[in-house]
Amino acid sequence: MYATREAIVPEPDQPVRDRWWLRGLLQDVWDQYFSDTPRVNLVRISYGAPWKTRLGSITLSDDHRTSYILVNGLLRLAEVPEYVTTVTIAHEMVHYAHGFGSPLPRRYKHPHRGGIVKRELLRRGMGVEYTRYDEWVYDHWYDFYDGYVNQETRPTSA
Ligand SMILES: [Zn+2]
Repeated sequence: MYATREAIVPEPDQPVRDRWWLRGLLQDVWDQYFSDTPRVNLVRISYGAPWKTRLGSITLSDDHRTSYILVNGLLRLAEVPEYVTTVTIAHEMVHYAHGFGSPLPRRYKHPHRGGIVKRELLRRGMGVEYTRYDEWVYDHWYDFYDGYVNQETRPTSA
């Protein structure tokens, strides 16, 4: 008698990717890679819309008391490797450290010009994670996004 592998091997426990998970991930990224970056205001993190061309964003409230990090809502799906979310959060943390979306002194004129985000991530020891992230996004993101969008629109488009 044979059982299929799927039938006898239980699913590995997947963490529930809710906003508490996001919050924990932000804390881990901050502790591990940005321990020299002071937390000078309240930093909140949650999921945003399922954007097509943006994985995250960071904005500062008018009174500068709160920074808001938004992570693309599709990153809560288990098909997306966890390191994609980790690097997305780290990317927004680079902006925070550089004074974009944060009350810290602004260290550059533009948030992305000259590849400063990638350079900063590598400098902070995220080279391996960044490469895996970059490859996954390059190889899979648009197909994954299209699959999701088509699946979502199927019931109403008939
Ligand atoms: Zn950015």
